[in-house]
Amino acid sequence: MKGLFQTLCAAAGALGLASSGFAATEGSHWEYEGAHGPDHWSELAPEFSSCRGGEQSPIDLNGQALPSEVHAPAIYWKNARVSKAINNGHTFQVNMDDAGKIVIDGVSYTFLQFHFHSGSEHTLHGRRFPMEVHLVHQADDGRLAVVGVMVERGERNELFDQLIGVMPGSAGEVTPVMSVDLNDFLPGDWEAYRYEGSLTTPPCSEVVSWTVFEKPITASPEQLAVFETLFPHSYRPVQPQNRRYVLKVH
Ligand SMILES: [Zn+2]
Repeated sequence: MKGLFQTLCAAAGALGLASSGFAATEGSHWEYEGAHGPDHWSELAPEFSSCRGGEQSPIDLNGQALPSEVHAPAIYWKNARVSKAINNGHTFQVNMDDAGKIVIDGVSYTFLQFHFHSGSEHTLHGRRFPMEVHLVHQADDGRLAVVGVMVERGERNELFDQLIGVMPGSAGEVTPVMSVDLNDFLPGDWEAYRYEGSLTTPPCSEVVSWTVFEKPITASPEQLAVFETLFPHSYRPVQPQNRRYVLKVH
């Protein structure tokens, strides 16, 4: 039980679920490139050993997905106040309280936070998008459900303008006076891929039910550039699918 608790605490730390008490230990500093890059994450600290596990994320989402009668998550998001806007050195993360939940196979996962990766972590048929938004939810037992939304170069995104306006330019956090309707992240089409995987950052815990929408939303080149300048290359390379099923849901 202690082991599980530690794993979840480590996951919580990586996700910024707690700002203190779960701080990364000395020597476990990780990056997206170089000696502390993804190829070495599992060697950086004992608690990162899951990073060489068999059910890792992200993966390439390709035509191999099984058609299924399984449905996309039931989404019950609502407009809510932002509790914290955080630049954690790896990404821009927005925490919100009371922003709703999603339900997958009868299990409720409460919304915690969303954050960004530039370029996308999952690839679709080998194609990498300029960005991917991750909307992170957690069930009572600690397991996570993350909804991934691809961002394509295109029309300006109003929500992104608001977010850029409160994004700390260097590591730190603010408590902006703003509300976000998470539904504004949804693409118009509900085709999605579902599979079981992991956190895409150390400790890479294999506790995540992933849903990644196939259709992207858009942001303007100028908006994408703001994120890319602050967080260039913040994605983990795709991992082997191994024996996992990827389901196409709608
Ligand atoms: Zn992420």
